[in-house]
Order: sequence, then structure tokens, then C-alpha cells
Amino acid sequence: MRTESELRRDIVEVGRWIHRQGLVSGYDGNISARLDRHRILATPTTISKGMMQPDDLVIVDYDGQKISGHRHVTSEIAMHLLIYRRRPDVNAVVHAHPPTATGYAAAGLPLNKALVSEVVLSFGCIPLAPYGTPGTAELTEALAPLVATFDAILMANHGVVTFGADLMRAYLRMETVEHFAKISLVTELLGRQALLSSAEVDKLLAARASYFGAGTPAIERSAVCPVTGGEAGRSERFWVSREELEELVAEASRRSNAQS
Ligand SMILES: [Zn+2]
Repeated sequence: MRTESELRRDIVEVGRWIHRQGLVSGYDGNISARLDRHRILATPTTISKGMMQPDDLVIVDYDGQKISGHRHVTSEIAMHLLIYRRRPDVNAVVHAHPPTATGYAAAGLPLNKALVSEVVLSFGCIPLAPYGTPGTAELTEALAPLVATFDAILMANHGVVTFGADLMRAYLRMETVEHFAKISLVTELLGRQALLSSAEVDKLLAARASYFGAGTPAIERSAVCPVTGGEAGRSERFWVSREELEELVAEASRRSNAQS
């Protein structure tokens, strides 16, 4: 169990990492850690997460009321509190605006395709929560249905939240979400995606508990999480432009006219 002063240093360090990697800009993002059953240690509002000192952090109770600290509490604290209340296994939360993953969130796209085995194993998929105004109950209501099952969630037109048993795991999940978003984007640029089959995905989801421990939330595969290549091995998706599609339809129609 980390002491309060160790957790203060850890949060400052994670703030530097997310800032250095370009996962936040300006005053974006926030980081928190559970101190005990009554108190959460959190980054304050209006400060660069790359330039914090340990005594910039604030301590709040589980209603979001400040207990100590000379700075103001972030307006996004309710999101952190929701996660701590619903997930007793979680002791740290990281929220950031990583550009590629947030691009998906702003395009209305979840990162839910079975493209990379380790990502399926780690996350199942990374769902997209509907938009909610930051700092309001709308935002927490949008996240609430997803928090029990997933450890990383895209927030529509906003950013990403990840969480875990400790700060390192919560931070590494943020890094992996952005990395996977970049890989997904490359497959989109290539115009091809070879998705893992449903059977391959089922094997990965079944292996989660043995990799990550008995408390790992079970993820049941659905039609949208993750999207697989179907039953018969890997399948490829590819894209054509409208002109190419029209040409293919015209060609098919010419052939069928020629045969009749
Ligand atoms: Zn935010």
C-alpha cells in the first residue's frame, strides 16, 4: 500500500508522462488515486499536468467535497468518484485527451474491432460513451453503464478515461488505448482490416482471468464488442470509393445483361 506522499509523487510523475507524450495539452486531463475508504487524492483544476508539484494536489471525500489542498477541485471529479464507487477493485483513474483515440471519439467511433490480440485480451474492446457536458451529471450518466465491465472508455467529443488497481496500470492503459487507436487508423488508411474470428476472440476473452486475476470483469462477446471476422477464421474488410462502387455495380450489370 502506497503512502499519501508516495501517491502524491506518483500522480505528479504520471502527469509529466501524459504531458510529455502529448496525451494532454493546456490544462487538459486529470489523475486521481484512492487514499482510503473516505478520501481521494486528485489533480486540481487549471494546471498543466506536466508542471505539477506534490502539494498542488487536493484531497476530496466521496461526495467530491474538498478536505484539504490550496487549489480548486477539478470539475471532472464526479467521473472519478463514479468509477471508485462502482469498482471496488480500482484504486487509480487517469483521464486525458490523446489525439488519435479522441479523434475516434469525436468521429463517433468506438475502438471495438478485433484487430490486435493483446488489446482484445486486455480490454475486450474500448467502447464509446455518449456525449455528456463535462462537469455535469450527463457525463457520469453516459459513462455509468460501461464502468462495471470496461477498464478504458472513449468519451464522445471529449477524450478517454482509463482505470486500474494502481496508478501504473491506469496510466499504461491510457498509453495502450492511444497506441491501439494509431494502429486502427493505419488499417483504415491501408483500406484493409483482417479481423480475428469469433472463435479466436472467445479464446482470448476466456483467458483474461488467468492473465489478470480472478477479480477481472468477465466480458461476453457481443455483436459490437469486439467486432470479429465472423465464425470462419480471419476475414478482411476493405473500402472502395463511391466511383469505384458505381463502376463495380455497372460492371456487374453489364455482365448480367451480356449473359441474358
Ligand atoms: Zn476532459
